[in-house]
Amino acid sequence: MDERDTALDRAHRHATTWLHALASRPVPPQATVDDVVDSLGTDLPDGPTPAGDVVDLLATACGPGLTAMPSGRFYGMVIGGSHPAALAADWLTSAWDQNSALRSVTPAHTAVEDVTSAWLLDLLGLPATGAVGFVTGATTANFTALAAARTQVLRRAGWDVRRDGLTGAPRVRVLVGAERHESVDLALSYLGLGAPEVVAADDQGRISSAALTEALEAGPGATRAGDAPAPTVVVLQAGNVHSGAFDPFAEAVDVAHRHGAWVHVDGAFGLFAAASPAHRHLVAGYERADSWATDAHKTLNVPYDCGLAIVADPAPLRAAMGMHGDYLIQSDAGDPLDKVPELSRRGRAFPVWAVLRALGRSGVADLVDGFARHATAFADGVATIDGARVLHDVVFTQVCASFGDDARTREVVRRVLADGTAWMSGSRWHDEAVLRISVSSWATTDDDVRASLDALRRAADV
Ligand SMILES: *Cc1c(COP(=O)(O)O)cnc(C)c1O
Repeated sequence: MDERDTALDRAHRHATTWLHALASRPVPPQATVDDVVDSLGTDLPDGPTPAGDVVDLLATACGPGLTAMPSGRFYGMVIGGSHPAALAADWLTSAWDQNSALRSVTPAHTAVEDVTSAWLLDLLGLPATGAVGFVTGATTANFTALAAARTQVLRRAGWDVRRDGLTGAPRVRVLVGAERHESVDLALSYLGLGAPEVVAADDQGRISSAALTEALEAGPGATRAGDAPAPTVVVLQAGNVHSGAFDPFAEAVDVAHRHGAWVHVDGAFGLFAAASPAHRHLVAGYERADSWATDAHKTLNVPYDCGLAIVADPAPLRAAMGMHGDYLIQSDAGDPLDKVPELSRRGRAFPVWAVLRALGRSGVADLVDGFARHATAFADGVATIDGARVLHDVVFTQVCASFGDDARTREVVRRVLADGTAWMSGSRWHDEAVLRISVSSWATTDDDVRASLDALRRAADV
């Protein structure tokens, strides 16, 4: 074996050891940052170390400091597992090491990206002519799609933002629901659009379409006949991180379009509701929006980092993200680099193709339905705990509960993490401390849910 084979062989063994240990190891990490630094050592060696030994040191030192995120009992934030086909394809992606920016230079990746994009648009019920950019995550997907939005609404107002920048440009109004994800604000900040106008949300966290209508009608110059519409973007949400709720797309998209707005949907984990016949009703009408952002590394269970920026009309996306370099070998058909902010990037479509090819249409629906079924089982279980309350309708994969007062809820979160059977995060929602449960992994079984509920009952015995 040469050095490379040895290193890969050891990495493979460490990986399978880790994956097999997920069934029995505690979900929270068993070491602190300082512990891991101590095990790694801090001196940069003066000379070389064989690659296989480096892999051994990395795996041994990091093992105790890893959180069992791919376990079936991790329910923190919104963390997707890694489907076996996607994980294996991700290994190949690294071995192949394709810089996937250009159509003609890496035809294998471009072919896979084209096929995967068509599959995604079909599964999600989105316009078949849409463009799909493979980016790092939903934050960047929001940024990418909103860059297309900015370009287009300003172009309609007679302003070329690519050429002339934002200085002196007409003001772009951006309206968001009170419970949008913070990454939307970050994306708007990257784009120089400032803080958005916030529209009230209802008790489930859904934007109020009445409040949205009122805000749009109150807007500058929006309704005078003959005027170009004021440049306006409305950001809606498919999947609230606390309640899992979906914005009322049908009404909200209609009213936004009546006012000439571009409608963007942040569906980092919720967009895939569209791939399930049982949950598709949650996104009814969302297909008439102009752009969508989602993650492949959440509901679709692709390893980090993979998000998808989808724009119905490819032209404004290309206008915002396309570039030309004399040394690049660019294609008339358009290149993958035209749809994303990066130039060089890994072959992100390979693992997405693999998970879709492995699951098929019914498998993706089953994956989504399984998360929702487990979330409902959690909600039913929590409701039987003395003093515990689920704070919203459970429509998808998220459950938020209170255990009476803030102090007790925080104590339950602390105790369930100390128990180690499962990982659930604390948060604040509607001015209350809450325990959040997010079901997002193919690996979660009925037994995992039972064991995790038992752990939660023990933790709540205070
Ligand atoms: C997770 C999430 C994001 C951010 O996604 P990243 O992949 O972490 O960048 C945005 N919006 C919503 C609704 C999310 O759940």
